[in-house]
Amino acid sequence: MKFSEFADLPIVDCHVHIHPSRISSEDDLEDEAETLKELIKGGYLTQIYISAGALGLYLKIKYPGLFYAGCPLPNPETSKKVNWNRYLNLMMEAGFDGVGEIVSKPAPRGERVPLDDPYYEGLWSTCESRGYAVLCHVADPEEFWDERLIPNWAKERGWAYYGDDYPSKEELYSEMENVLDDHPKLKIVLCHFYFMSANLEGLSRFLDSHKNANLDLALGIELIHNISKRRDDWRTFFIRYCDRILFGTDIGVSRTLQQHLDRVWLIRNFLESDEEFYTPSTADWLLTRYSEPFRGLNLPNHVLKKIYSTNFRRLWGAEPRSVKVDLAASVCEETDDKLATSLLKTMRGL
Ligand SMILES: [Zn+2]
Repeated sequence: MKFSEFADLPIVDCHVHIHPSRISSEDDLEDEAETLKELIKGGYLTQIYISAGALGLYLKIKYPGLFYAGCPLPNPETSKKVNWNRYLNLMMEAGFDGVGEIVSKPAPRGERVPLDDPYYEGLWSTCESRGYAVLCHVADPEEFWDERLIPNWAKERGWAYYGDDYPSKEELYSEMENVLDDHPKLKIVLCHFYFMSANLEGLSRFLDSHKNANLDLALGIELIHNISKRRDDWRTFFIRYCDRILFGTDIGVSRTLQQHLDRVWLIRNFLESDEEFYTPSTADWLLTRYSEPFRGLNLPNHVLKKIYSTNFRRLWGAEPRSVKVDLAASVCEETDDKLATSLLKTMRGL
Protein backbone atom coordinates (compact mmCIF):
# COMPACT_ATOMS: atom_id res chain seq x y z
CA MET A 1 0.00 0.00 0.00
CA LYS A 2 1.03 3.60 -0.44
CA PHE A 3 1.18 6.05 2.45
CA SER A 4 -1.85 7.83 1.04
CA GLU A 5 -3.87 4.57 1.17
CA PHE A 6 -3.24 3.91 4.86
CA ALA A 7 -5.98 4.52 7.45
CA ASP A 8 -6.64 8.17 8.22
CA LEU A 9 -5.95 7.99 11.98
CA PRO A 10 -3.89 9.95 14.50
CA ILE A 11 -0.50 8.28 14.96
CA VAL A 12 1.99 8.74 17.78
CA ASP A 13 5.39 7.13 17.31
CA CYS A 14 6.52 6.15 20.81
CA HIS A 15 10.08 5.21 19.91
CA VAL A 16 12.30 7.77 18.14
CA HIS A 17 15.88 8.90 18.81
CA ILE A 18 18.34 11.46 17.62
CA HIS A 19 21.61 9.63 17.38
CA PRO A 20 24.06 11.60 19.56
CA SER A 21 26.94 11.05 17.11
CA ARG A 22 25.05 13.12 14.54
CA ILE A 23 24.86 16.26 16.61
CA SER A 24 28.03 18.19 17.22
CA SER A 25 26.83 21.72 16.56
CA GLU A 26 23.76 23.87 16.60
CA ASP A 27 23.54 23.59 12.79
CA ASP A 28 23.46 19.78 13.00
CA LEU A 29 20.61 20.03 15.43
CA GLU A 30 18.71 22.44 13.18
CA ASP A 31 19.11 19.98 10.27
CA GLU A 32 17.92 17.10 12.40
CA ALA A 33 14.94 19.06 13.72
CA GLU A 34 13.98 19.95 10.15
CA THR A 35 14.24 16.27 9.09
CA LEU A 36 12.00 15.21 11.97
CA LYS A 37 9.46 17.85 10.97
CA GLU A 38 9.47 16.48 7.40
CA LEU A 39 9.16 12.96 8.76
CA ILE A 40 6.03 13.91 10.69
CA LYS A 41 4.53 15.38 7.52
CA GLY A 42 5.67 12.74 5.00
CA GLY A 43 4.98 9.82 7.35
CA TYR A 44 1.51 11.09 8.35
CA LEU A 45 2.54 11.10 12.02
CA THR A 46 0.68 13.20 14.55
CA GLN A 47 3.29 13.28 17.30
CA ILE A 48 6.59 11.72 18.32
CA TYR A 49 7.91 10.59 21.71
CA ILE A 50 11.62 11.26 21.44
CA SER A 51 14.39 9.80 23.57
CA ALA A 52 17.19 12.23 22.87
CA GLY A 53 18.20 13.45 26.30
CA ALA A 54 17.88 17.14 26.87
CA LEU A 55 17.57 17.79 23.13
CA GLY A 56 14.01 16.52 23.49
CA LEU A 57 13.16 19.61 25.54
CA TYR A 58 14.64 21.80 22.84
CA LEU A 59 12.41 20.15 20.20
CA LYS A 60 9.38 20.57 22.43
CA ILE A 61 9.99 24.30 22.66
CA LYS A 62 10.76 24.66 18.96
CA TYR A 63 7.69 22.73 17.76
CA PRO A 64 5.04 23.02 20.47
CA GLY A 65 2.61 20.11 20.61
CA LEU A 66 4.53 17.82 18.25
CA PHE A 67 6.96 16.17 20.63
CA TYR A 68 6.79 14.24 23.86
CA ALA A 69 10.25 13.86 25.39
CA GLY A 70 11.71 11.04 27.46
CA CYS A 71 13.92 11.97 30.37
CA PRO A 72 17.38 10.38 30.41
CA LEU A 73 18.71 8.62 33.48
CA PRO A 74 21.90 9.63 35.25
CA ASN A 75 24.87 7.36 34.49
CA PRO A 76 25.08 4.76 37.30
CA GLU A 77 28.88 4.85 37.16
CA THR A 78 29.10 8.53 38.01
CA SER A 79 26.07 8.83 40.26
CA LYS A 80 26.04 5.98 42.71
CA LYS A 81 23.27 7.42 44.84
CA VAL A 82 20.38 9.11 43.10
CA ASN A 83 17.47 10.70 44.89
CA TRP A 84 15.04 9.39 42.28
CA ASN A 85 12.01 11.15 43.64
CA ARG A 86 13.73 14.51 43.52
CA TYR A 87 15.40 13.87 40.16
CA LEU A 88 12.30 12.65 38.33
CA ASN A 89 9.92 15.22 39.77
CA LEU A 90 12.29 17.99 38.74
CA MET A 91 12.67 16.57 35.22
CA MET A 92 8.92 16.26 34.73
CA GLU A 93 8.33 19.72 36.07
CA ALA A 94 10.91 21.04 33.61
CA GLY A 95 8.89 19.50 30.77
CA PHE A 96 9.84 15.87 30.19
CA ASP A 97 6.83 13.60 29.63
CA GLY A 98 8.12 10.21 30.70
CA VAL A 99 11.21 8.16 31.39
CA GLY A 100 13.58 6.57 28.88
CA GLU A 101 14.11 4.75 26.63
CA ILE A 102 15.91 2.94 29.42
CA VAL A 103 18.21 0.37 27.84
CA SER A 104 18.96 -2.94 29.50
CA LYS A 105 20.88 -4.63 26.72
CA PRO A 106 23.18 -7.49 27.64
CA ALA A 107 26.63 -6.44 28.84
CA PRO A 108 29.31 -8.30 30.76
CA ARG A 109 28.09 -8.85 34.31
CA GLY A 110 30.75 -6.65 35.86
CA GLU A 111 29.66 -3.67 33.76
CA ARG A 112 25.92 -3.65 34.25
CA VAL A 113 23.44 -2.69 36.92
CA PRO A 114 20.43 -5.05 36.74
CA LEU A 115 17.02 -3.41 36.53
CA ASP A 116 15.99 -5.04 39.83
CA ASP A 117 19.15 -3.85 41.62
CA PRO A 118 18.51 -1.74 44.76
CA TYR A 119 20.11 1.15 42.81
CA TYR A 120 16.92 1.47 40.70
CA GLU A 121 14.31 0.83 43.38
CA GLY A 122 13.52 4.52 43.87
CA LEU A 123 13.15 4.96 40.11
CA TRP A 124 10.46 2.30 39.81
CA SER A 125 8.58 3.31 42.95
CA THR A 126 8.56 7.00 41.95
CA CYS A 127 7.34 6.18 38.44
CA GLU A 128 4.67 3.91 39.86
CA SER A 129 3.40 6.36 42.46
CA ARG A 130 3.58 9.45 40.23
CA GLY A 131 2.30 7.74 37.09
CA TYR A 132 5.39 8.55 34.99
CA ALA A 133 5.32 6.22 31.97
CA VAL A 134 8.53 4.35 31.14
CA LEU A 135 9.88 3.12 27.80
CA CYS A 136 12.26 0.23 28.42
CA HIS A 137 14.42 -1.99 26.20
CA VAL A 138 15.16 -5.39 27.72
CA ALA A 139 17.36 -8.08 26.06
CA ASP A 140 17.89 -8.42 22.27
CA PRO A 141 16.98 -10.97 19.58
CA GLU A 142 17.85 -14.52 20.76
CA GLU A 143 20.14 -15.10 17.75
CA PHE A 144 22.62 -12.66 19.28
CA TRP A 145 23.40 -15.29 21.95
CA ASP A 146 24.17 -17.89 19.28
CA GLU A 147 27.49 -17.81 17.44
CA ARG A 148 26.01 -19.70 14.47
CA LEU A 149 22.94 -17.53 13.99
CA ILE A 150 24.04 -13.98 14.80
CA PRO A 151 24.01 -11.65 11.75
CA ASN A 152 27.31 -9.99 10.84
CA TRP A 153 26.05 -6.44 11.40
CA ALA A 154 25.16 -7.34 14.98
CA LYS A 155 28.59 -8.87 15.57
CA GLU A 156 30.24 -5.76 14.17
CA ARG A 157 28.33 -3.61 16.62
CA GLY A 158 29.49 -5.71 19.57
CA TRP A 159 26.05 -7.25 20.09
CA ALA A 160 27.37 -10.82 20.50
CA TYR A 161 26.56 -12.32 23.87
CA TYR A 162 27.76 -15.91 23.74
CA GLY A 163 30.68 -15.34 26.14
CA ASP A 164 30.27 -16.77 29.66
CA ASP A 165 30.37 -13.35 31.12
CA TYR A 166 27.03 -12.28 29.62
CA PRO A 167 23.67 -12.74 31.29
CA SER A 168 21.28 -15.02 29.44
CA LYS A 169 18.10 -13.68 27.84
CA GLU A 170 16.11 -15.40 30.60
CA GLU A 171 18.12 -13.64 33.31
CA LEU A 172 17.33 -10.26 31.76
CA TYR A 173 13.65 -11.17 31.64
CA SER A 174 13.57 -12.26 35.25
CA GLU A 175 15.12 -8.92 36.32
CA MET A 176 12.36 -7.05 34.49
CA GLU A 177 9.65 -9.35 35.77
CA ASN A 178 10.78 -8.84 39.37
CA VAL A 179 10.25 -5.12 38.83
CA LEU A 180 6.83 -5.65 37.22
CA ASP A 181 5.75 -7.92 40.09
CA ASP A 182 6.90 -5.45 42.73
CA HIS A 183 5.26 -2.47 40.99
CA PRO A 184 1.89 -3.61 39.65
CA LYS A 185 0.73 -0.07 38.82
CA LEU A 186 3.88 0.85 36.89
CA LYS A 187 3.10 2.22 33.41
CA ILE A 188 5.67 0.61 31.15
CA VAL A 189 6.17 -0.13 27.46
CA LEU A 190 8.68 -2.83 26.58
CA CYS A 191 10.47 -2.08 23.33
CA HIS A 192 10.75 -4.26 20.25
CA PHE A 193 7.87 -6.53 21.28
CA TYR A 194 10.02 -7.60 24.26
CA PHE A 195 12.02 -9.66 21.72
CA MET A 196 9.37 -12.36 22.05
CA SER A 197 8.12 -12.46 18.44
CA ALA A 198 9.38 -16.04 18.08
CA ASN A 199 7.25 -17.20 21.02
CA LEU A 200 3.57 -16.36 20.75
CA GLU A 201 2.46 -18.62 23.59
CA GLY A 202 5.19 -17.33 25.91
CA LEU A 203 4.31 -13.72 25.15
CA SER A 204 0.60 -14.38 25.80
CA ARG A 205 1.45 -15.93 29.17
CA PHE A 206 3.70 -12.99 29.99
CA LEU A 207 1.00 -10.41 29.18
CA ASP A 208 -1.63 -12.38 31.09
CA SER A 209 0.53 -12.55 34.21
CA HIS A 210 1.87 -8.95 34.02
CA LYS A 211 -1.12 -6.75 33.41
CA ASN A 212 0.99 -3.59 33.70
CA ALA A 213 3.22 -4.47 30.73
CA ASN A 214 2.75 -3.08 27.22
CA LEU A 215 4.77 -3.69 24.03
CA ASP A 216 6.05 -1.47 21.26
CA LEU A 217 6.48 -2.53 17.66
CA ALA A 218 9.84 -0.86 17.02
CA LEU A 219 11.91 -3.01 14.63
CA GLY A 220 14.08 -5.48 14.94
CA ILE A 221 12.98 -6.71 11.51
CA GLU A 222 12.91 -10.23 13.02
CA LEU A 223 9.66 -9.08 14.57
CA ILE A 224 7.85 -8.79 11.20
CA HIS A 225 9.60 -11.93 9.91
CA ASN A 226 8.62 -14.09 12.89
CA ILE A 227 5.06 -12.82 13.00
CA SER A 228 4.61 -13.36 9.25
CA LYS A 229 5.50 -17.02 9.72
CA ARG A 230 2.44 -17.57 11.95
CA ARG A 231 0.41 -14.74 10.54
CA ASP A 232 -3.11 -15.92 11.36
CA ASP A 233 -2.29 -16.84 14.97
CA TRP A 234 -0.53 -13.55 15.52
CA ARG A 235 -3.42 -11.64 13.94
CA THR A 236 -5.67 -13.10 16.62
CA PHE A 237 -3.07 -12.13 19.24
CA PHE A 238 -2.99 -8.50 18.00
CA ILE A 239 -6.77 -8.24 18.22
CA ARG A 240 -6.86 -9.86 21.68
CA TYR A 241 -4.09 -7.66 23.12
CA CYS A 242 -4.85 -4.49 21.14
CA ASP A 243 -4.91 -2.42 24.35
CA ARG A 244 -1.30 -3.40 25.09
CA ILE A 245 0.51 -2.78 21.77
CA LEU A 246 1.95 0.58 20.67
CA PHE A 247 3.26 1.92 17.37
CA GLY A 248 7.01 2.63 17.45
CA THR A 249 9.81 2.71 14.88
CA ASP A 250 13.28 3.21 16.46
CA ILE A 251 13.87 6.01 13.98
CA GLY A 252 17.30 7.45 14.70
CA VAL A 253 18.91 4.07 14.15
CA SER A 254 17.98 4.98 10.57
CA ARG A 255 19.85 8.04 9.31
CA THR A 256 18.16 9.71 6.33
CA LEU A 257 14.61 10.97 5.90
CA GLN A 258 13.95 8.20 3.36
CA GLN A 259 15.20 5.55 5.80
CA HIS A 260 12.99 7.01 8.55
CA LEU A 261 9.98 6.91 6.22
CA ASP A 262 10.80 3.31 5.27
CA ARG A 263 10.56 2.33 8.95
CA VAL A 264 7.14 3.97 9.27
CA TRP A 265 5.97 2.37 6.04
CA LEU A 266 7.16 -1.13 6.96
CA ILE A 267 5.22 -1.21 10.21
CA ARG A 268 2.11 0.41 8.78
CA ASN A 269 2.05 -1.87 5.76
CA PHE A 270 2.55 -4.82 8.09
CA LEU A 271 -0.38 -3.80 10.29
CA GLU A 272 -2.77 -2.56 7.63
CA SER A 273 -2.25 -4.44 4.37
CA ASP A 274 -2.99 -8.02 3.40
CA GLU A 275 0.04 -8.02 1.11
CA GLU A 276 3.16 -10.06 0.78
CA PHE A 277 5.94 -7.48 0.82
CA TYR A 278 9.68 -6.95 1.30
CA THR A 279 11.94 -4.45 3.02
CA PRO A 280 12.22 -1.47 0.62
CA SER A 281 15.62 -1.27 -1.12
CA THR A 282 16.14 2.21 0.33
CA ALA A 283 15.75 1.07 3.98
CA ASP A 284 18.57 1.10 6.53
CA TRP A 285 20.77 -1.98 6.63
CA LEU A 286 19.46 -3.20 9.98
CA LEU A 287 16.22 -4.03 8.20
CA THR A 288 17.70 -6.10 5.38
CA ARG A 289 18.06 -9.54 6.85
CA TYR A 290 15.60 -11.87 5.13
CA SER A 291 14.89 -12.93 1.58
CA GLU A 292 11.40 -14.34 2.29
CA PRO A 293 8.46 -11.93 1.97
CA PHE A 294 6.59 -10.60 4.99
CA ARG A 295 2.81 -10.83 5.24
CA GLY A 296 0.49 -8.05 6.35
CA LEU A 297 -1.97 -8.48 9.25
CA ASN A 298 -4.83 -6.47 7.74
CA LEU A 299 -6.06 -5.36 11.19
CA PRO A 300 -9.45 -3.72 11.64
CA ASN A 301 -9.64 0.02 12.15
CA HIS A 302 -10.63 -0.05 15.83
CA VAL A 303 -7.50 -2.10 16.58
CA LEU A 304 -5.27 0.20 14.53
CA LYS A 305 -6.66 3.21 16.36
CA LYS A 306 -5.57 1.81 19.72
CA ILE A 307 -2.12 0.79 18.51
CA TYR A 308 -1.55 4.12 16.77
CA SER A 309 -2.59 6.56 19.49
CA THR A 310 -5.15 5.55 22.13
CA ASN A 311 -2.74 3.36 24.10
CA PHE A 312 0.02 5.95 23.98
CA ARG A 313 -2.25 8.70 25.24
CA ARG A 314 -3.56 6.53 28.05
CA LEU A 315 0.01 6.08 29.28
CA TRP A 316 1.66 9.42 28.49
CA GLY A 317 -1.28 11.79 28.49
CA ALA A 318 -3.47 13.37 25.82
CA GLU A 319 -1.02 16.22 25.13
CA PRO A 320 2.69 16.76 25.76
CA ARG A 321 3.57 18.67 28.95
CA SER A 322 4.71 22.22 28.47
CA VAL A 323 8.35 23.13 29.06
CA LYS A 324 9.43 25.54 31.75
CA VAL A 325 12.38 27.05 29.94
CA ASP A 326 14.10 28.43 33.05
CA LEU A 327 13.92 25.17 34.90
CA ALA A 328 14.80 23.18 31.76
CA ALA A 329 18.03 25.13 31.32
CA SER A 330 19.11 24.38 34.84
CA VAL A 331 18.11 20.70 34.91
CA CYS A 332 19.91 20.15 31.60
CA GLU A 333 23.14 20.70 33.43
CA GLU A 334 22.31 17.50 35.34
CA THR A 335 22.05 15.55 32.09
CA ASP A 336 25.58 16.38 31.00
CA ASP A 337 24.40 17.57 27.61
CA LYS A 338 26.41 20.68 26.88
CA LEU A 339 24.76 21.60 23.57
CA ALA A 340 21.23 21.33 24.93
CA THR A 341 22.22 23.25 28.05
CA SER A 342 23.65 26.12 26.06
CA LEU A 343 20.68 26.19 23.66
CA LEU A 344 18.18 26.26 26.49
CA LYS A 345 20.15 28.93 28.28
CA THR A 346 20.04 31.01 25.11
CA MET A 347 16.29 30.45 24.84
CA ARG A 348 15.88 31.52 28.44
CA GLY A 349 17.71 34.74 27.57
CA LEU A 350 15.29 35.57 24.74
ZN1 LIG B 1 15.47 2.64 20.86
